[in-house]
Amino acid sequence: MTSHPRNFSASIDQAKLDRLAETAIKVGLRLQPGQDLFLTAPVAALPLARRIAAEAYKAGAGLVTPIFSDEEMTLARYRHAPDDSFDRAAGWLYEGVAKAFSGNTARLAIVGENPMLLAEEDPAKVSRANKANSLAYQPALEKIAGFDINWNIVAYPTESWAKLVFPHEQDEIAVAKLAHAIFAASRVDGEDPIAAWDAHNSALRSRTEWLNGKRFRALRYTGPGTDLTIGLADGHEWQGGASTAKNGIVCNPNIPTEEVFTTPHARRVDGRVVSTKPLSYQGSLIDGIEVRFEEGRIVEAKAAHGEEVLKKVLDTDDGARRLGEVALVPHSSPISKSGLLFFNTLFDENAACHIALGQCYSKCFVDGAKLTPDQIAARGGNKSLIHIDWMIGSAELDIDGVDEAGGRTPVFRKGEWA
Ligand code: ZN
Ligand code: ZN
Repeated sequence: MTSHPRNFSASIDQAKLDRLAETAIKVGLRLQPGQDLFLTAPVAALPLARRIAAEAYKAGAGLVTPIFSDEEMTLARYRHAPDDSFDRAAGWLYEGVAKAFSGNTARLAIVGENPMLLAEEDPAKVSRANKANSLAYQPALEKIAGFDINWNIVAYPTESWAKLVFPHEQDEIAVAKLAHAIFAASRVDGEDPIAAWDAHNSALRSRTEWLNGKRFRALRYTGPGTDLTIGLADGHEWQGGASTAKNGIVCNPNIPTEEVFTTPHARRVDGRVVSTKPLSYQGSLIDGIEVRFEEGRIVEAKAAHGEEVLKKVLDTDDGARRLGEVALVPHSSPISKSGLLFFNTLFDENAACHIALGQCYSKCFVDGAKLTPDQIAARGGNKSLIHIDWMIGSAELDIDGVDEAGGRTPVFRKGEWA
């Protein structure tokens, strides 16, 4: 396969792209004068990466260090590399990244790769490469999951991603439509995105304050195919929108974001749940997931599509069969209303209530920054190499909060805040 680089910038509103870069630095990271920045992006996202570097230096960045990925080079590995390549990862790089985070370097990722890039490759090789990479990435990921530093993810409408989301459009139209959807969801449509984010953050804060005041012991989900009780971790705290990293900087890690989320109890989840949207996982599509939990652990799992991949994921480690996140998103969220499947968690998780298999976020505990990994585990926090969100929300989902005495409070009715 050969693709000739083409210039799609005419399909992308340049003023909004400028605003997205400014929002990533001023809202997403709230980058501090003198702070260094580590930036990753696909080469196709260069127009946004350059704008972000410029905004970073305008905000006083000490040094911006970019690392780019390229779809053709990723595919070249699968086509030509020797078999033992698939057990290798750039551990030296991630050790350096972890060291940079220890020195207060901020982290920004631009996403936009074709989510189905590896769909035609050998699933065994894909899974070996993913596992090797997850293991090598661990020292750096711990500092991201532990929220040691301010970090942010934003998206750029690349051609390969746009063609997947809009398969029936001409390339230029597909890119324009994906750009429009990204800008709307990222709240950079208007003249003053900074003010728009302030308002959005305070709306999310009022939800988390209500939930934190209620101190529910569990959430009870009912809907078509779903009858599930998710116990919440002891001392859990709901988070959403802007939050404070351990380095003291208040930032918005995800742009866009619509969710409020917390840590479920890894050993107190029981019942059945079905997915309501397909899950795009590292090149594969998993759809029609049905699982049953017993004492927090998935004991039965099937999928209408991609069941083999799902089972491989569940066998990653013990924590892969347990929950690390529970998140509430109204069915009327702007991303849900767009009706699009983005094949990208950053967007799709903000279209519906979801749960995540695997690693929990220590920041979703009261005084989480001060807890040791053992204390987090004792309170019910899950540990795993993976963290995979999948959507269980719909217009027919009801959720009750269950308090210590067993009393119930409606939280969601028909997919909306009650
Ligand atoms: Zn989430
Ligand atoms: Zn998640």
